[in-house]
Amino acid sequence: MAKRKSQLLEILYASSLVSKIQRSSARMSERGLATELRYPFLAIVGQTEMKMSLILALINRAIGGVLLVGARGTAKTTAVRGLLDLMPVVERSICEYGCEPDDIYTHGMDGVCSECATKIGMGDPITEPQPMRLVELPLNTRIEDVVGGINERVALEQKRILLDRGVLSYADNNVMYIDEVNLLDDTIIDAILDAAAQGQFTVRRGPMVSTYRSRLTLVGSMNPEEGSLRPQIQDRFGLRVLVRGVKSPTERLEIYRRATSYQRRPYLFVQDWYGETYASAAEITEARKRLPKVTLSPETERVGLSWIEALEIESHRAEMTLFEAGRAYTAADDRTQVTLDDLRAIAPLALRQRHAKFVTDYFAKQDKEEAKIKEVIADKTVDSSEKADLSD
Ligand SMILES: [Zn+2]
Repeated sequence: MAKRKSQLLEILYASSLVSKIQRSSARMSERGLATELRYPFLAIVGQTEMKMSLILALINRAIGGVLLVGARGTAKTTAVRGLLDLMPVVERSICEYGCEPDDIYTHGMDGVCSECATKIGMGDPITEPQPMRLVELPLNTRIEDVVGGINERVALEQKRILLDRGVLSYADNNVMYIDEVNLLDDTIIDAILDAAAQGQFTVRRGPMVSTYRSRLTLVGSMNPEEGSLRPQIQDRFGLRVLVRGVKSPTERLEIYRRATSYQRRPYLFVQDWYGETYASAAEITEARKRLPKVTLSPETERVGLSWIEALEIESHRAEMTLFEAGRAYTAADDRTQVTLDDLRAIAPLALRQRHAKFVTDYFAKQDKEEAKIKEVIADKTVDSSEKADLSD
């Protein structure tokens, strides 16, 4: 394997090996994370695709999220929660109305509240840097819990309408994790996917209307044993990872060893991985800053599109995800020009489970009818006794 420019990809590929990578002198106290001793993301053995997808999704939201498909006990939830230690720093509004500098560029001073307008006039910031957070969707959640709804207690006791914020309104600029996404009610998953796609959503309850930003990175996980996901929902996830149990006995033994050593001495274990974790978190933030400069050449785009054509994929989300994941991968490797090798590295994640046989057959049949219609309408002298054969 060619030497990589970035430490981030080096660490990701290396941590799938059993050999322990070198320790760093960084101490946990430097970032103040020592209070929560969750299992380190990078200490997960194998599962390079899963780790790669999650990191690419942190770098570029336009990928459209990640779907993790696998049996129980394959470290899906451990990996997603482990992302907390790798979260990039984003500029977050410090105003209760969520005003951001962008609002001024698009709407002028009317785009922000009076308090923020004053701050901007004084040259004071209206945002502050904060790490992205992980928002987990609780199990058995109701649509009101997700998008927000009328506070029933206030309605009964005080006879007035108060709109409660839903989980979704807290997911802006954060990662939202939905475990068992295949068991979630259709209306809920539709609401979340729409909000994620549009970057904002509006709640209407009686006379009350509220709009919230929802530029979120969606991560779903599911166990196919417990039911499938509707194809149109599955298509809306950018990267799909098939999380399988590790096959190699040496690696399985290593998983066991790390798990027991983490259980026995969590502080030491987390400290042991802290150097790599800290370095990776910094590189993810850097990759996000680099991303706007990363481009694809027309030739790379052409080859990428030819793969999609050869695989007979209808959904335009395929190229969206392929190219955006390619850009994230390139940014992670400290470069600004996406190569075909970059696209190859992420293509299986972006393109798998996109080809729908039903859709292909359906359109093939329709193409036949379209051809017949063209034939009939092109020739005005056609004999009326010659009926178009559309029966099949
Ligand atoms: Zn404001």
